[in-house]
Amino acid sequence: RDISSKDEDDITSDNNVDTALSSSVADNNVMPEPFQIVSIGSADDKFAFTFHEDKLNLIMQKIPPGWKVAVVSVVGAFRTGKSFLLSWFLTYLHHLTTSNNEKEEAELIDEDNDGVTKQKWFETIDSIGNKGFHWRGGKERNTTGIWMWSQPHFVRNDKGETMAVLLVDSQGMFDNETTMALTTSIFGLSTLLSSYQIYNVDKRIQEDNLQQLALFSEYARLAVQADSSEQEVVLDEKPFQTMEFLVRDWQHFEEEEDYDQMEKEMADYLDQVISEREAKDLQETREQIMACFQTISCFGLSHPGLDVPKKNFQGEVAKIDDVFLNLLDRYCRRVFSVENLKPKIIHGREVTAVELGAYIKAYAEMFANGASFPEASTMLEATSAANNTNAVNMAIAQYKDTMSRIAGPKCNNYIRPKELQDDHRQLMTKSLALFDSVATFGSKRAIEGCRQTVIDQLNDEFEVYASLNAGRNPLAGFETYAIPLSVAAA
Ligand code: GDP
Repeated sequence: RDISSKDEDDITSDNNVDTALSSSVADNNVMPEPFQIVSIGSADDKFAFTFHEDKLNLIMQKIPPGWKVAVVSVVGAFRTGKSFLLSWFLTYLHHLTTSNNEKEEAELIDEDNDGVTKQKWFETIDSIGNKGFHWRGGKERNTTGIWMWSQPHFVRNDKGETMAVLLVDSQGMFDNETTMALTTSIFGLSTLLSSYQIYNVDKRIQEDNLQQLALFSEYARLAVQADSSEQEVVLDEKPFQTMEFLVRDWQHFEEEEDYDQMEKEMADYLDQVISEREAKDLQETREQIMACFQTISCFGLSHPGLDVPKKNFQGEVAKIDDVFLNLLDRYCRRVFSVENLKPKIIHGREVTAVELGAYIKAYAEMFANGASFPEASTMLEATSAANNTNAVNMAIAQYKDTMSRIAGPKCNNYIRPKELQDDHRQLMTKSLALFDSVATFGSKRAIEGCRQTVIDQLNDEFEVYASLNAGRNPLAGFETYAIPLSVAAA
């Protein structure tokens, strides 16, 4: 019997890639929409932070088991064009996942510059409408909270694997009605869950943008880098992946300027903003940010044209400034390129949808329970508890996957009990090794408890497989006949 377990590479190279690719656009029964996974305010507490686990689960269930997930999230002040940008991301991703044809793609890009008039992806539509993230939210604050697009998109990553992309909109921050603690919680949760965080800022990066970022990221760094005995563990890896400042209405862009030059200027601008400062507090702010993110970058979008902020603007592409559209095109290609779009990594591991779901739940509940911003130790506990749960689930799933294949309900072959016992022992060892490789941080006692849970559950599972197997014993009937009638009657 082959008791080697199916590894993740097998799973990601399954043929269901194509099914998933088409399901991202052909899930026609229900129109995709933004799902609110965190809302702010309830009937008796206008600042209550509520996590909607059911909504998150509905999204995560659409991602095949074992597939990695990239999360692109946009945060920033209210009414600075975040939802508008995310709606363009949706349009771009739709184009990317439906025009899976290199020739068509080449025609849309016109990179060969051969003089033939070719269309760009954003020219194939008349209007982005308002069916994506609700970008014309108006002045009312009914959008406050965290929203995730209900339908994951599926793209190939740099290893050629298919991964899911989730888009997140964090709304209602830095306005005068949201308390500082709530702002930090929203910002915090969106940083913890994303692999590519876009910090949308108006016209320039200001000192208070940096302070806000440093405040949260310092908490978060402690959360994922300290161990529960409150000793700091210094990891080589910075805890979070990409933080990109996206400067809206960037005013220093000359019409004639080429776009490569512009990207270079934005990088220089960022260097200038985060370069060393003499004042101690300013310098600390910068060091905190640098310690948290593996990549910090910057991009600028010019003003989209005077029609865009108007009330009667419906998203008509013809009314949007050409320079803005070209920069937007460049930006979409940059964000969703294989070089930049990476699966979410937590504690050095690329996570699957199920794992990410467990983390988001743990973090969201932590924010929901606390009246103020949680302590670093609480955050670490939440992180390690979610990690332990993931380790338990992975270890059990690996065992069941193989055991079901050799002795599950669909099997016809009877296995001698001694052989089945040996298989069980071997698989238990493999599962515990997997558990040990995942449950690597947090309280030793909690890890030990979870390890015992794996052992107990695998033993319980084994009982079930063993009795299923016994039922297939061809001699079972004879044994029954061998029992003396008097005993059987008793
Ligand atoms: P959000 O609250 O940050 O999500 O902002 P929205 O995406 O809802 O946009 C708010 C308003 O700003 C809408 O009227 C948009 O048409 C407009 N808008 C979108 N993008 C830009 C931009 O880059 N610059 C300016 N000045 N306005 C924009």
